[in-house]
Amino acid sequence: MPVSGLPPYDPSNIFARILRGEIPCRKVHEDEWALAFHDINPQAPVHVLVVPKGQYVSLADFSASASDAEIAGFWRAVGKVAKDLSLEVSGYRVLTNMGVHGHQEVPHFHVHIFGGRSLGRMLPAKD
Ligand code: 5GP
Repeated sequence: MPVSGLPPYDPSNIFARILRGEIPCRKVHEDEWALAFHDINPQAPVHVLVVPKGQYVSLADFSASASDAEIAGFWRAVGKVAKDLSLEVSGYRVLTNMGVHGHQEVPHFHVHIFGGRSLGRMLPAKD
């Protein structure tokens, strides 16, 4: 069930638990600002999630409240992960879901990196 983009941060969400090491993940990158790991239900040959270390519910929250250092560190990590996954030549897609219309399910801001095949049109014809 999609979550509203603007609830208070819930530290029991699944990505918070992964960040605390309470739940395992297939890690591909970690630094001061971000953790990247393979999605448990991949939608493409490469499907990696990048989450900031800070507690932000959604892009709305992150863009409004994160520090400049957190924002820069997070986006540099996204680019580095895509590069390290050898996606720069073939190309890739970065996506974030926000709120109910975006079908966001996990209320800790994250971006999806998709690659490994041609990804088709930007949006499906219907949901
Ligand atoms: P959202 O709809 O919130 O943008 O996407 C959440 C993503 O998290 C989904 O693609 C889902 O497969 C993934 N996911 C949910 N639970 C877990 C988990 O426990 N581990 C991993 N690696 N991915 C998860």
